Amino acid sequence: MEENYIIGIDIGGTNFRIGAVGRGQQTRFFRKIPVGEVFCQENTLKALAEYIKKYISQLDKNAAAIAIGLPATLNRQRTILLQAPNIPHMENLPVARTLEEMFRIPVYLEKDVSMALYYDKQKYKIPSCEVLAGCYFGTGIGNAIMVNGHILAGKDGTAGELGHIPADGSSLPCGCGNTGCMENLAGGKYLAGLCRGIYKDTYVGDVFTAHGKEELLLEFVDRIAMTVATEINILNPDYILVGGGVPAMKDFPRKYLDERIHFHVRKPCPEMSLQVIYTEDEEDKCVVGAALYAAEKLKTKNEIN
Ligand SMILES: [Zn+2]
Repeated sequence: MEENYIIGIDIGGTNFRIGAVGRGQQTRFFRKIPVGEVFCQENTLKALAEYIKKYISQLDKNAAAIAIGLPATLNRQRTILLQAPNIPHMENLPVARTLEEMFRIPVYLEKDVSMALYYDKQKYKIPSCEVLAGCYFGTGIGNAIMVNGHILAGKDGTAGELGHIPADGSSLPCGCGNTGCMENLAGGKYLAGLCRGIYKDTYVGDVFTAHGKEELLLEFVDRIAMTVATEINILNPDYILVGGGVPAMKDFPRKYLDERIHFHVRKPCPEMSLQVIYTEDEEDKCVVGAALYAAEKLKTKNEIN
């Protein structure tokens, strides 16, 4: 990693996290604030630029690069947001170029879950391999696929939209514009819905403690398993990581999830050799992951120059 800091940014649906990551990959000057406090004006990109400028001015070292993890689909070149339900007024703008011109340092954009995968790959010491896949169950479902060490982008940049596979039994509108996506039934938003309705006396964080053995929640966990099994059956990955806020919830039935994943995955292979790696949920995961991603890009750039 460079002598200077790499600025890692994780823009979530609820919170904005930023940190300065230096040698040794410790996060310094970590901040977590409600996303609305950053995007407090109509010109979201300008608001973001102003926030970063102020943040960098408070650091004790220079910034070598900025890397931003986004809950959005991005173009193949990773320079433009295509669709971002939670970030208003930033779609189809040259985000990377605008910020690069302003800060005169490289700016990298990736899906937030790709940044999480970079972090987990290092933390769990995943060796170089052909296919590494990460499924992250938070409010929605995030998916990142790495092929031979590179994030799989796809023709338009939108590969790995696992949360938006069609699911039977849902006619709810999804943030992507479609209806009936798996994300509505196997993401945290489903649990939030239960706690607004059927379990309205239960705080969402306690839902597995209070109701974990009931059919509604067992079916929910089974849908998570089906989603992960879909990924495994298509890709036969060397390593599969499962993480995010939902599996990290208190009394989440991980053993049952594991059993159900094995149930749904094709036999004898890939089920026979299947070993799911369950990752911890960490506050600065995508911030550090973004810095790791940028460090790798900078290294490649320096090798070419
Ligand atoms: Zn969708």
